[in-house]
Formats: sequence, C-alpha cells, structure tokens
Amino acid sequence: MSWRSILESHMSSGERLTVEDAVILYRDAPLHSLRSAANVRRKQMLPSGEVTYLIDRNINYTNICTINCQFCSFYRPPSHEETYTQTTEQISARISELEEIGGVRILMQGGVNPELGIEWYTNLLNELKNRHPTIDLDCFSPIEIEGIAEVTGLSTLEVLTQLKSAGMHGLPGGGAEMLVDDIRMDISPKKGAPENWLRVMGEAQSLGLITSATNVIGFGEGAEARIEHMYRLRILQEESLEIHGIGFTSFIAWPVQLENNTYGKRNRGRNRIELGAGPSEYLRHVAIARLFLDNFNHIQASWPTMGLDIAQIALLGGADDIGSTMMEENVVSASGTEKLEASEDELQSAIVRAGFTPRRRNSRYDLLETPEPVLVREQMAAPSPSQV
Ligand code: SF4
Repeated sequence: MSWRSILESHMSSGERLTVEDAVILYRDAPLHSLRSAANVRRKQMLPSGEVTYLIDRNINYTNICTINCQFCSFYRPPSHEETYTQTTEQISARISELEEIGGVRILMQGGVNPELGIEWYTNLLNELKNRHPTIDLDCFSPIEIEGIAEVTGLSTLEVLTQLKSAGMHGLPGGGAEMLVDDIRMDISPKKGAPENWLRVMGEAQSLGLITSATNVIGFGEGAEARIEHMYRLRILQEESLEIHGIGFTSFIAWPVQLENNTYGKRNRGRNRIELGAGPSEYLRHVAIARLFLDNFNHIQASWPTMGLDIAQIALLGGADDIGSTMMEENVVSASGTEKLEASEDELQSAIVRAGFTPRRRNSRYDLLETPEPVLVREQMAAPSPSQV
C-alpha cells in the first residue's frame, strides 16, 4: 500500500497502525501530511487546547558509573578524580530551592555506582520524604535499579518494593535509548538487552509507580528500528494497562548528542546526515509517535535538545506537553547542548505563542493551579488603542 492510502485509511477508520504500515509512513509520507494527521489525532485524544508543563528539578546525585555508554559525557569511572556523590544535605538543599519556586517533583538519577548499597538509597528517600512531604520523588532509572540489585543480591522487583516503601514515587524513563538489540549492543553493551529495561519498567508499573518512556534517535538507524522501539513500548503499555491499570504516562524522544563523548569521537568524519537528527527528522518522529503509540496519552516535545522554537512546532504536530523547567540538568548538557533550564515564564510564553493554554501539572499529569501567563498579563496591562 502507498503511504497515502495507509494514512487515509488509518485516519478515517481509526484502526491501529501495524508495524509495516508505520515503517512505510515513516519512510515515505511527506512531513506536512504526518504532522497534520498527528495534530488531528492529538485533538481527538486531548481536545482541551491545553499544553502542560511541570515545575521540577533534575538532581544528578552521583556521576560514578561502570556502564560506560558510548554516548554519555556525564559519567566518571569509580577511580576518576572528578567523581562525586552528593550527601543527603546537599540533595535536600536543592529540593528546598525547588520548593521556593513552587516545584512539585524531583527527577533524580545518576550513574550506576557500585559503592552504594540499598540502605544508602532507602535512607536517602526516607529522609527526603520526611523533610519534603509535598515533593514527588521520581528517582533511579531502570539501569540504576539493576545496579542496586546486583550490589545487594536482591531481585529488581524486591529493590523497587523497598524503594517504594521508603518514599519513591516513580522512575525516570531514562536509559531506554533504542530498544533494539544490535543498536543497544553497539552503544551501551553493558546495559544488556532491551528486555531488561522493559522488565524493570513493567515491575515498577505492577507496583503502581509512575513511569515514562524515552527514546534517543540518531545512531544511524532506519525507520524499522525506530518503529521497533515504539512497538515494544506499545506492547508493554497494553499489558500494564490491562493487568495493573497503570502504564507509562508519556513518551519523549530526542536526538543523540554528539559532542564530548566516545560515540561522537568514534564517528567523527562520518556524514553527520547519518547521525543525530535535525528538526525535520525530529518532527517526523513526534508525529509518528502520536499516530503509532495510540495507547499513550501524552507525547512530550523536547525543548532541551531541540530548542523552544522546534518544541513549539512539535506542539502543532502531535505533542501535547512541553516537559519541565529542568532546573539543574547535567547529563544531556554534558554532551554539548547549551542552556538546559527554562523559567516557567519561558515555557508559558512558548505555549501561548503556539496557540495553546499553558497548564501546570505534576508527574501523574494531574492539572494544577496555574499562574496567568506573562504574555497574557502584559496584554491585559497594555493600554488599548483608544487609551493611547
Ligand atoms: S548514560 Fe547512565 S548508565 Fe550510561 S554511562 Fe551515563 S550515567 Fe552511566
């Protein structure tokens, strides 16, 4: 079938896209047709005209890591002179700063640090929950959970159970990158098979923990691999929603960063068109995600890697959320992106300029009381033509 007949049939019948159909759309459909269809689908699923955002803070509690992902510029091996592990006091002080600006959650993740046993994590969570009871603690991506399990000799399910009891609210979606065997073996062989990430996320969902799904593109892979990644997420989402009544809250993708890391150096001189993903490729990915991931309510636009302008355009082609303020991000920024922090005003302005109404949310996507956007405040304060 041609891309046109697949898209027309999908949009008129609402029937689920097959893997084969999605690959054809990804490869052959013009970007404007995909974005237009994704925008229609987003309006059908979320007709409110609102775009959500979150006031949160990233905390990268340790940079010690033994996994050595090729694309990572953040980690340091255990004996390196630049290693650090933050204390409870240091982490708590960061959360206090977040509370001062009305934040509601921290996204805490770091390296796989073999020096930290499970007591370190449970003591930290207990203390943070006591000191900051209104802050959601979304902590430790699946590879960190696996690292704790290895150090302690517990199963990953037992680790998750103990961390939840200590106050953990959810898991960051990090570490999925590309859930395709050969790509994963190439870029981060110590992370193991895609099934590991999926198993830990499924276990977290079985415990009622809040999870999101990520995707890094631009390792030279084709449409088949990108759709395979989404297909694995769609299957787990289906199972978790059916069995546990809870699944991933959202999907967020971004292109691999090629500066300051082994992956970028290894591929220096290679045609940059083959690596990474520019704006049109990224927007294509967002649109396909909205159409293919039909059991995901929320598709995020990634302003930290693409910039607020492209994030705005993504909002008109399938995305319905602009992510978070990301106070103090260290992992992606170590790979060469510039400023990785946005004020609430900046996020709100981007949303208003794209034609939507900004709404604060928490990490469960519950809507929260939202201050009037600065653009609207300025318009209300400006004199009308008859007053000038
Ligand atoms: S991406 Fe995470 S797991 Fe991989 S090397 Fe960096 S800190 Fe370690």
